[in-house]
Amino acid sequence: GKWVYTFGDGKAEGDAKQRDLLGGKGANLAEMASLGLPVPPGMTITTEVCTYFYEHGESYPPELEGQVNDALDLIAASTGRSFGDAKMPLLVSVRSGARISMPGMMDTVLNLGLNDTTVEALAENAGDERFAVDSYRRFIQMYSDVVLGVPMRLFDEHLEALKETRAVELDTELTAADWRELIETYKSLVAKETGKPFPQEPKDQLWGAIGAVFGSWRNDRAITYRRLHQIPERWGTAVTVQAMVFGNMGDTSATGVAFTRNPSTGEKALYGEFLINAQGEDVVAGIRTPQDITEAARKAAGSERPSMEKALPEAFAEFKAVCDKLEAHYRDVQDLEFTIERNKLWMLQTRAGKRTAKAALKIAVDMVDEGIISKDEAVKRIEPASLDQLLHPTIDPTAKKELFAKALPASPGAAAGEIVFSSEEAERLASAGKPAILCRIETSPEDISGMHAAQGIFTTRGGMTSHAAVVARGMGKPCVSGAGTVRINYAAGTMTAGDTTLKAGDFVTIDGATGEVLVGEVAMLKPELSGDFQRIMAWADAARRMKVRTNADTPHDARTAREFGAEGIGLCRTEHMFFDPARINAMREMILADDTAGRRAALDKLLPMQREDFTQLFEIMAGLPVTIRLLDPPLHEFIPHGEEEIKEVAAALGVDPDKLRNRARALAEFNPMLGHRGCRLAVSYPEIAEMQSRAIFEAAIAAAQKTGSPVVPEVMVPLVGLASELEFVKKRIDATAKAVSEETGQTFTYQVGTMVELPRAALNADRIATSAEFFSFGTNDLTQTTFGISRDDAGVFLGSYLREAIIDVDPFVSIDVDGVGALVKIAAEKGRQTRPDIKLGICGEHGGDPASIAFCETVGLDYVSCSPFRVPIARLAAAQAAL
Ligand code: PEP
Ligand code: MG
Repeated sequence: GKWVYTFGDGKAEGDAKQRDLLGGKGANLAEMASLGLPVPPGMTITTEVCTYFYEHGESYPPELEGQVNDALDLIAASTGRSFGDAKMPLLVSVRSGARISMPGMMDTVLNLGLNDTTVEALAENAGDERFAVDSYRRFIQMYSDVVLGVPMRLFDEHLEALKETRAVELDTELTAADWRELIETYKSLVAKETGKPFPQEPKDQLWGAIGAVFGSWRNDRAITYRRLHQIPERWGTAVTVQAMVFGNMGDTSATGVAFTRNPSTGEKALYGEFLINAQGEDVVAGIRTPQDITEAARKAAGSERPSMEKALPEAFAEFKAVCDKLEAHYRDVQDLEFTIERNKLWMLQTRAGKRTAKAALKIAVDMVDEGIISKDEAVKRIEPASLDQLLHPTIDPTAKKELFAKALPASPGAAAGEIVFSSEEAERLASAGKPAILCRIETSPEDISGMHAAQGIFTTRGGMTSHAAVVARGMGKPCVSGAGTVRINYAAGTMTAGDTTLKAGDFVTIDGATGEVLVGEVAMLKPELSGDFQRIMAWADAARRMKVRTNADTPHDARTAREFGAEGIGLCRTEHMFFDPARINAMREMILADDTAGRRAALDKLLPMQREDFTQLFEIMAGLPVTIRLLDPPLHEFIPHGEEEIKEVAAALGVDPDKLRNRARALAEFNPMLGHRGCRLAVSYPEIAEMQSRAIFEAAIAAAQKTGSPVVPEVMVPLVGLASELEFVKKRIDATAKAVSEETGQTFTYQVGTMVELPRAALNADRIATSAEFFSFGTNDLTQTTFGISRDDAGVFLGSYLREAIIDVDPFVSIDVDGVGALVKIAAEKGRQTRPDIKLGICGEHGGDPASIAFCETVGLDYVSCSPFRVPIARLAAAQAAL
């Protein structure tokens, strides 16, 4: 087999398309060499060798040694240098390179080939003894650490000791003689630690380094990084061996990194930093402050230190031309590493530049305008989830941060405010015009108003679909949830993590994008929606097939969603309307009523309120489809639990506290999520469904009259498992529609459909579709019931599942294609068998998740529905799924 690919001198055996085989670095070096760019010659040992290495007890294919030797001969021919030569020694770098970059995770060895003989030749050639011996001692240190397992710390101790003896502070103050002395110390250290002298033979050094780089594919850092970024183990790394060039050969030498456009703003201007007389590590290590590459950047920064454009004008001109050539060739922003050795430019790396969301939009739009990419390509280049950065305030990346806790990033955006431990406190602060962060062990529906009043929400319990998380995302409020390391003491008004205790009134900042809770008020950046954003979204809308609706329960959410481009409401959770303090007591009256007549009397009070809510939603949506779901949660959620509250509420309702207490006891359930909820409520109390349907139809008539455009409401029945359940409820809905029509003399159309959120419903979707005109997949409950995992308790143990790689992603965040997805597919097929034009949508949290949206496209759903702030993300993800 072919295990080694060479490059250099305007030729290469591979190209940029062979990332899988050559790694990102190797593939792009080959491409640059073929383009005739100045690349130091080298070879890439393929990722297949890595696979072989691990499958054969860490040994190599028999042909490898010969192929490496042949490649070394080519490098020697190109450079006029060879390994161990006493006059013209070849020195190489040995680097890792996976398919996608894993920055800093694997090992690198530089200056390989130096030994007691070649160091003298290097000194002679460079005309600089100090440079040569410094390079040698660096090499011994790096090689021993990476290959021989002698800890870097031991070398540093000797270095520090030497500086102390010489009474100097900086490495740069040590002389060539000092370095020579240190080299001898290092060599004895290696002999003592490993029982063998430091290897002098360059080929031995090379094979040691190759083995170490392959070995580093399985070091702890790399394993963790792969798990976090879902990079498969089997990919393996390539090893690139390349002739060294030196940026530290005096004042006409330099090294640097650059982007062909500004990666934080997207501005079309070369952007980067360099250091004169330095090696790559010096730029990264941040010991010396780098200088700007262009004059323009230097002036903008007000720096006194010369730009590369001024200091090394010829190398700069060549570099600029290379940048233009590479960007045009790859048709994307490049992130480059280069070295200048005595005025001669060498390119060491190029890759697609990582950029902020704002820059990504600008670059994509500019490149369309410049004729470099098509509109569809522009749409494909934006990471949908990254749009979150643009819709919410974010922590200023330059701000100082003191971490209090880190938990789940449950709802994006950053917020700062005073710590409050109750919803009442949050409301009190809000009415005083002060920002608050609501900190709770967990939230319940009673906290809705407090969550509204607060700038952000923090909980110590609950996962990504816990109440706090779902509601916060719906409101577009930052939320960090499930901080198991934090203990909240409501009585004392404190919360504690490790040694730090914060109290009510202290400031905290939460970052819902990272899950960080920070002490104090941290500086933030404001969101802004640019013209670039609008243009990309318009292109996305033109490209997508699926509609994007929103989950909205309030006029405020509905309006926000429309501004973000929602094309209707896919889920209105009517229960949220009952938690309003002005309404909840009417709801409680209904729950406490002893018979149907009593319930109807209480429901009559709720009817006008619901009608008003729905009228507003229909008006805001102005003719767009609106799906309203009948009451879903167990009634227990609406009545007070604590003694204090029971007394208060009993007084307000004018009933005996005992009655309330008994009712609460009677309604308590072991598994409320599997209990008396969903359509089961409508079966027990059809009058509730009748009141809600009446409110919907009367509102539809009222809104149609006001706006002049017809409203076609979609009435949705939750948690259906049996076709007969839906038939039972539908009969009530239809009868109510008939009654409203007769009473008002108005005709109107409406649809009745169901949520598919139980496996039984999915498997019997053909029968259910005889009475359902639409299905909306409630993938929150469907995930809960398919896995048998409680969505409110999952946070506690799914973390271990993710850490142990038992699952790749939280199934409540991204749809489980093999299980939940299979049920969705079955339901869609069966539903269409019965009713070919059945309308299919999704309204679980997955409706705003790009990977799940891609799945929805494959099933051919008509729309996805998500919280208002996810609407732009869903529009873009739906477009990408269609392209
Ligand atoms: C669902 O179960 O997916 C759903 C949308 O309903 P809820 O989250 O209100 O249970
Ligand atoms: Mg549900």
